[in-house]
Amino acid sequence: MTAMVKSEAVHKSFGPVEVLRGIDLEVQAGDVFCIVGPSGSGKSTFLRCINHLEKVNAGRLYVDGTLVGYREKNGKLYELRDREVAAQRRDIGMVFQRFNLFPHMTAAENVMEAPLQVKRESKAAARKRAVALLERVGLADKTDNYPAQLSGGQQQRVAIARALAMEPKLMLFDEPTSALDPELVGEVLDVMRDLARDGMTMIVVTHEMGFAREVGDSLVFMDEGIVVESGTPRDVLGNPQHDRTKSFLSKVL
Ligand code: ADP
Ligand code: MG
Repeated sequence: MTAMVKSEAVHKSFGPVEVLRGIDLEVQAGDVFCIVGPSGSGKSTFLRCINHLEKVNAGRLYVDGTLVGYREKNGKLYELRDREVAAQRRDIGMVFQRFNLFPHMTAAENVMEAPLQVKRESKAAARKRAVALLERVGLADKTDNYPAQLSGGQQQRVAIARALAMEPKLMLFDEPTSALDPELVGEVLDVMRDLARDGMTMIVVTHEMGFAREVGDSLVFMDEGIVVESGTPRDVLGNPQHDRTKSFLSKVL
């Protein structure tokens, strides 16, 4: 079986600063793959490489068996054209810490935007699906509200529905609950739990260790641009082997 994501010695630098220093990991289809680690360890950069928001400098990154961002020919790599990059990105949904909704559009319009613009779907079809997706994230009664009229938890659920509207095969979550008031975290995690139950492949950067333990199939601890430790959430969180992992967990658990 092909892994949904395969990272082989992935490196990424910003100028002289090497932020990813050889990331090796595999995410199996249908799995919830959690990434934990201190601030600045390269977690967001890694997700951004998967979603073409950053370009890998060295190593190979594959999504569903396809090399991300490049074409390989006779052992050489050639950068993909914009149109080809857009096609690869279409299958990947991403949810950020900040909800990034379009403020001048209602919840339904936010969810409809990509299907209308990218897939050229009809307005009626896009609206129908948006309403169904908003129902799925528990917002059936908020379809025509603007982001400013929604709580942070509701906005983040709209953001999840918006990502789902393109029917992605992979969802990336970058600390989706970190910007929320504590009482709103649960409703977002509940939606993510449902998605996992439906078999969505998800990579989740999170500090919610309870969620990772309960929902995660695999977990890696990243520090200073490398994967320090990996395994089941139970093993890594319950029985960390490395001092750096132990020290980090003692601060967050
Ligand atoms: P994390 O998500 O684990 O907190 P990041 O991937 O956001 O870590 O950042 C890792 C390091 O890369 C940090 O030191 C950050 O300052 C740096 N970095 C991230 N993006 C850029 C950028 N566009 N230009 C320069 N440095 C960056
Ligand atoms: Mg980050």
